[in-house]
Amino acid sequence: MKLSELHTGERGVIVKVNGHGGFRKRIQEMGFVKGNTVTVILNAPLRDPIEYEIIGYKISLRREQAEKIEVISEAEAKSMMTEPEDLSALHSDDRYLQRLAAERRKVIKVALVGNPNCGKTSLFNIAAGRHEHVGNYSGVTVDAKQGNFEYGDYRFELVDLPGTYSLSAYSPEELYVRKNLIDDTPDVVINVVDASNLQRNLYLTTQLIDMNLRVVMALNMYDELLASGDKLDTTQLGYLLGMPIVPTISRTGEGIEKLFDIVIQIYEKSDPHLARHIHINHGSEVEQSIERLKALISKTEEIRHKYSTRYLAIKYLENDKEIDSVVEALSNRDEIIAARFEENNRIRSLMGSGLESSMVDAKYAFVQGALAETYVPNATRRRKSNITDKIDAVITHRFLAFPIFFFLLYLVFSGTFAIGEYPMRWIEWLVSHIGAFVGSAMGDGWLKDLIVDGVIGGVGSVLVFLPNILLLYLFISLLEDSGYMARAAFIMDRLMHRIGLHGKSFIPMIMGFGCNVPAILATRTIESRKSRLITMMIIPLMSCAGRMPVYILLAGAFFPRHAGLVLLGLYTLGIALAVLAAKIISRFFKDDDLPFVMELPPYRVPTAKSIFRHTWEKGRQYLQKMSGVILAFSVALWFLSYFPNHNAYDTVAEQQEHSFIGYIGKAIEPVLEPLGFDWKMGVGIISGVGAKELVVSTLGVMYSEASSDEASLQATSTESTEVSTDKKSTGETADTPSGSTRLQHALLKSVTPAGALAYMVFILLYFPCIATFIAIKNEGGGWKWAIITAVYTLLLAWVAAFITFNIASLLA
Ligand code: GDP
Ligand code: MG
Repeated sequence: MKLSELHTGERGVIVKVNGHGGFRKRIQEMGFVKGNTVTVILNAPLRDPIEYEIIGYKISLRREQAEKIEVISEAEAKSMMTEPEDLSALHSDDRYLQRLAAERRKVIKVALVGNPNCGKTSLFNIAAGRHEHVGNYSGVTVDAKQGNFEYGDYRFELVDLPGTYSLSAYSPEELYVRKNLIDDTPDVVINVVDASNLQRNLYLTTQLIDMNLRVVMALNMYDELLASGDKLDTTQLGYLLGMPIVPTISRTGEGIEKLFDIVIQIYEKSDPHLARHIHINHGSEVEQSIERLKALISKTEEIRHKYSTRYLAIKYLENDKEIDSVVEALSNRDEIIAARFEENNRIRSLMGSGLESSMVDAKYAFVQGALAETYVPNATRRRKSNITDKIDAVITHRFLAFPIFFFLLYLVFSGTFAIGEYPMRWIEWLVSHIGAFVGSAMGDGWLKDLIVDGVIGGVGSVLVFLPNILLLYLFISLLEDSGYMARAAFIMDRLMHRIGLHGKSFIPMIMGFGCNVPAILATRTIESRKSRLITMMIIPLMSCAGRMPVYILLAGAFFPRHAGLVLLGLYTLGIALAVLAAKIISRFFKDDDLPFVMELPPYRVPTAKSIFRHTWEKGRQYLQKMSGVILAFSVALWFLSYFPNHNAYDTVAEQQEHSFIGYIGKAIEPVLEPLGFDWKMGVGIISGVGAKELVVSTLGVMYSEASSDEASLQATSTESTEVSTDKKSTGETADTPSGSTRLQHALLKSVTPAGALAYMVFILLYFPCIATFIAIKNEGGGWKWAIITAVYTLLLAWVAAFITFNIASLLA
């Protein structure tokens, strides 16, 4: 009987807890575990909650919760008793009740769910020894048939449900199946799947996953799969879907015993690795909608008793009629209805289609991704039906995949820098004019210097990168929204696994070439915590756009003929060390490396709005970093280089030497000397802690020579930003010496080529900038990972620069 039916003062022993996974987990954590004795303290009719005592604690449950718990009561036990002497046993201890409960527990309710014609009734007949009509057309099973049988030590109550393609509330069959799953709560669901038509059959499976039930898959018609010559990795597919898969041939009965063995194991949870609850990833936009609705629906605590709230949110967003009426009964229904309306509009304007179809797409993308990893159709039989399949045949082709991928990457990066040059010039122009204007409008004094050099100069030197960053993210968004990135992640997956990462780590790493901060945030899509943390820790080795001007300045000055080669070498070094670091770091992690499906959404032309929004979203993170951390840092830097003695020397360089920053630079000089750096370069390194974009402007100030006539702090700090655009003109335009060429001359005089090379290596590798550091702390869940990253990158930078300097010195 149900626990809720026990009267005040009565005792019962728990047989089992019914309901969806989340509910069972919560209830069992409260102590309502099979075999435990519950005593009713107070169960007043019509009163909620009911008070119980279990394992020495008093606990109250809502009536709905108590209804989901099955118990055996003393009264029941008595009625089953034959021997009179047992009666005393009943009162003296719980052992008798417990034995009965254990026996009762041996009854397992199983429901068969699957598409029409996948062989459910055949399976049912074989298992239950019945002769229900089997037919090769849909609609044969109009209602549920129940059959009981014994197997092993268990008694099975098997229900053959009507066949459905989906679990939406459209057809009576679908409603019937859903009602059975939610109200009659089978202990285990057998999802019967037609192995010869996986794509369509697995769609229903994704909906069972949403419901958070205990599911075992019967991969039926396995004979047809074998005969067709198709190959399927059932073990891997089972890992990906989070459920055990048993191949069956229900026409002959092959695999059916094994199937029920697994059902028993799932029921008894004897092997925790057999099943796990996964979430189908609907893509970041739709997931955002799901989260919002889930939070609103969860405000009504009781709703969790019957439904998984995630399932409710998903179904409600799909405009499910039945869930509509569930929500109708909630106290905050108006809020929920409004939220769905808003989310639907948001998704529609972003993706061009409403939530309902976006969800369907996402589920097919999941199925597509799971099959792409596990299923190889027989080559002779393979036929490409739709456009996505045709495109995929080329893009994920064994030999073509990588060349296409690298070609696209090349296009993205060359496009970014070629197009980015123009807006970069405009911004530079604007910043220098604003600086000049403010400079002329303000009276001389430290305040003017602070505004012009500290604020405008510092932030301006970072602002020039905004076009490049936005362009890079524009291209990445285009690749993401068109569906290509998912394929890129897919083809990289195998390689990434070798270094302890996941295919999904790949996109954040590419984004890291723009700016590390949005890249760190983009790791959110990685389900495995291990992969996610490692990805975050190696992203700083991806050379962001902020490091580019240092390379251009130094490579242009010291290796003018091989500047391109040096740049390429630096990027490659970063990637190679990232791979190495990932390999080493992954050793320190426990293997939580559960496989996850990489969704393969259909290709589509991205909408302008969605591209714009996704680009902006990433660009905004960059701007935020600029407005906060960089502003503060450049003001602090200005302060340190301005005081004390800001009026005591004739030249900027001398003044710098005797400022705080000069003192700090000199203090760290001994550490940097073995790398071939002088103290001025050390100051550059310190400023790069705030943002690597600041290194060049700082060097500009440090090396401003006494001889250059108008080498005021202002002129150098703003002009030095031109370096980045002068990459092509360095050397050619020697007749019009700009800040950068002047700086290059100064550097040539005081640094050796080996030192310059080592400096670039150091800038590439050392400390992720403050903003990235904070991003790692926030996303990684604590200072620990941020600090580890900072320390290891610093050590790595020093060692790599040391090696570079010494080898280069030998060769020179
Ligand atoms: P239901 O609609 O899911 O109940 O499917 P049925 O049990 O009525 O089976 C549909 C058809 O598939 C029947 O013709 C069965 O004989 C056939 N069938 C069932 N299981 C298998 C199997 O494992 N292999 C093959 N080749 N045919 C099967
Ligand atoms: Mg049937």
